[in-house]
Amino acid sequence: MRSIKWLAFGVAVGALFVVERLRPLRARKEPGVERVGRNLAIGLLAATTTAASEWPIVGPAQRLAERGRTGLLCRLPLPRTLRIVCGFLLLDYTLYIWHWLNHRSPFLWRFHAVHHLDLDLDSTTGLRFHFGELALAAGFRAAQVLLLGVDRETLRLWQQLLVCSVMFHHSNLELPIGLERRLVKVIATPRMHGIHHSTRAEETNANYSSLLSCWDRLHRTLRLNVRQSSITVGLEGLQSPEDVTLTRSLALPFRRDVGVILDSVRGVRLQPDRVGVILDSAGPDARG
Ligand SMILES: [Zn+2]
Repeated sequence: MRSIKWLAFGVAVGALFVVERLRPLRARKEPGVERVGRNLAIGLLAATTTAASEWPIVGPAQRLAERGRTGLLCRLPLPRTLRIVCGFLLLDYTLYIWHWLNHRSPFLWRFHAVHHLDLDLDSTTGLRFHFGELALAAGFRAAQVLLLGVDRETLRLWQQLLVCSVMFHHSNLELPIGLERRLVKVIATPRMHGIHHSTRAEETNANYSSLLSCWDRLHRTLRLNVRQSSITVGLEGLQSPEDVTLTRSLALPFRRDVGVILDSVRGVRLQPDRVGVILDSAGPDARG
């Protein structure tokens, strides 16, 4: 069963990789294979870090939570179905807070900025997280499990849907605008997340949701009324191919010379009245 799931996931990711090249949403700055190879290398380091932190960090936290029945949900007398639903929602909401924190804290932003450094945005960006960010995220995941009291089946279900969502909303796939306007009412979509990867600080510091989009609505951090054709993906001041090589990407959190660039983006608040509706990259207006 597990191998079938992996096979289905691999086929879906492969199909997304092909389709986003046949129906691109945004023009590419680095169309060659070099960028894809770089993102895969960064992703491989990230996956290794996640796997390595499971054994000493997340796994023991899960066992401790189950043995001691610690955490919020264990203390509430809820039927099993409601416990799963609440666990799922709380995991997704706390991930929104973690992502927001990654944009607010100078320390966390240095690592998360590596993900935003990519000059293009497609499904391979969804793999491109610095190994340091993923090591820190393992500590956050252990805290989620211990504080929320989520069982391992709920955690696994949410993680599997999250991975699919991350690949989808990073993709460069141009969906029909009507479909995307409906989808964004429930989940994070490619146009919505494209705005989050803009070089403009008031757009980067919006749209933090990773699976359900309701958290951005709740916190008034949703911004949809930006044309994809107006977006420059990446970080302002780090826009040349020499700025984003594999070595420079991995070294970014530790570089002193990029401090001013990184600080200029971090934590800028957006105007909450600028949500609007999601716009077509080539469409004439914002109606709908
Ligand atoms: Zn981000």
